[in-house]
Amino acid sequence: MASDIEIAREAKMQPIAQIAAKLDIPSEAVLQYGHHKGKISFDFIQSLKDRPDGKLVLVTAINPTPAGEGKTTTTVGLGDGLNRIGKKTAICLREPSLGPCFGVKGGAAGGGYAQVVPMEDINLHFTGDFHAIGVAHNLLSALIDNHIYWGNELGIDQRRIAWRRVVDMNDRALRSIVNSLGGTANGFPREDGFDIVVASEVMAILCLATDLKDLTERLGRIVIAYTRDKKPILASDLKAHGPMAVLLKDAIMPNLVQTLENNPAFIHGGPFANIAHGCNSVIATRTALKLADYVVTEAGFGADLGAEKFFDIKCRKAGLKPNAAVIVATVRALKMHGGVAKEDLGKPNPAAVRKGAANLQRHIANVKKFGVPVVVSINKFTADTEEEIAAVREAASAQGVEALLANHWAEGSAGIEAVARKVVELVEAKVDQFAPLYPDEMPLWDKIRTIATSLYGADEIQADKTTRTRIKELQEGGYGHLPICMAKTQYSFSTDPNLRGAPSGHSVTIREVRLSAGAEFVVAICGDVMTMPGLPRVPSAFSIKLNDEGRIEGLF
Ligand code: ADP
Ligand code: MG
Repeated sequence: MASDIEIAREAKMQPIAQIAAKLDIPSEAVLQYGHHKGKISFDFIQSLKDRPDGKLVLVTAINPTPAGEGKTTTTVGLGDGLNRIGKKTAICLREPSLGPCFGVKGGAAGGGYAQVVPMEDINLHFTGDFHAIGVAHNLLSALIDNHIYWGNELGIDQRRIAWRRVVDMNDRALRSIVNSLGGTANGFPREDGFDIVVASEVMAILCLATDLKDLTERLGRIVIAYTRDKKPILASDLKAHGPMAVLLKDAIMPNLVQTLENNPAFIHGGPFANIAHGCNSVIATRTALKLADYVVTEAGFGADLGAEKFFDIKCRKAGLKPNAAVIVATVRALKMHGGVAKEDLGKPNPAAVRKGAANLQRHIANVKKFGVPVVVSINKFTADTEEEIAAVREAASAQGVEALLANHWAEGSAGIEAVARKVVELVEAKVDQFAPLYPDEMPLWDKIRTIATSLYGADEIQADKTTRTRIKELQEGGYGHLPICMAKTQYSFSTDPNLRGAPSGHSVTIREVRLSAGAEFVVAICGDVMTMPGLPRVPSAFSIKLNDEGRIEGLF
């Protein structure tokens, strides 16, 4: 089969106004960036307020393995599949980060015959949203050091500055730096560091904000530092939220592109799925719900992190009511969960699939706890055998759920019709009763324990005294009502990435908690979180170039 980029280049794209028309978006509401990308104007979005919402379908997955699952590919395929069976459908995805494009090969625009296009643009600078977010973030950084330079009236304790700097590139050299070197004219030297743009709280804020006013207020609530007696200092104390919002006024409008089958796709915002919630913007999802009968969206990582945060953070805060969830599983990944090494994945092994299916079963049970009906979509790889596929079906049916084979990667929408029909059946049965896992008023510690014991299969949570004290400070400091954003390995229900399948009886250690007051969640860090990735020894950047025709080579 052709490579992703070859397939994408063959696509017969339609002008973006034509795609918008499929959702009855008038052409004057489409702010075009070239021929195939557009932002949907805020005035138009505002005018949709009183329309009824379409149905919301979440695509999530089993715990990923290096074998790959295909959530984005399934989201795109399912969107096309629903359109194929006559349902007016839009998909909502995250925008990819630039950094990883030049590190490890692999795009974020789907794959095979289930992709969004123009994929080179989407994967590279797109409509400049990440640039705007990075600059808004760095404006706040500059205002902090400038404030200290001019006398530090707010009493910022330079050892307790919580706001770093960002750049959208994998650059480990910037993880920890000393700034303001070079003499008195350059300020007071202090330890600082850079994160990648997707890890910025501004990214999470942009993705959770409901309108421009909410955006501005959330930016103002960012805790930038503490005083010597540990009182929080906010971005609003520096009058930073006004100009930051100005820098974001275009970035907050959702981007519209199309799938290979010319169906509408919103791609907007891209927060990390560890220290942030890992979903596209609330504004994009809400806009899509006003315009389409069905909206299919993806949440990052496996369902233990992605779906949980989608439900407990995004849906809770935005008042969204998901009507169905699709859990993506692959035979290969379940084999790995069943103990097979990566090198041996090519050999048929139904027994390992059966064993590894415990992982899928736990995710099914978990999603049901949120009151959302489930179907399993088996993302077909060419090496999968009948017996292995049957093993996945049996494991799902033991949980009262159907698992259907999906071959959209090779066939486009025709390959995923069965899943599309099942999704419609689940939605039309109206059995969904969405509710978050825990109430707002539950104390922070208990929220973390609830997630760990009821979803991860853990027996207990632990934290050292410093972390427990910090949780208590946040609880008593007026942040106790916030939801939790878990940051743990995506590879396991536990905090040990090597513990595959469905481990139970383990202990979850919270190493650190961080406050994202503007995004409105408390991050519980249970393991290493990397907020500034590095490049590998042989980065994909080495093979990326423009050829004699001026075309990009080596990107995916
Ligand atoms: P996720 O969203 O879960 O991270 P993606 O949908 O982005 O996963 O897929 C990851 C990679 O795997 C992509 O490069 C995609 O082309 C590839 N892929 C997905 N499904 C299949 C499949 N059925 N067969 C072969 N490759 C696939
Ligand atoms: Mg994805």
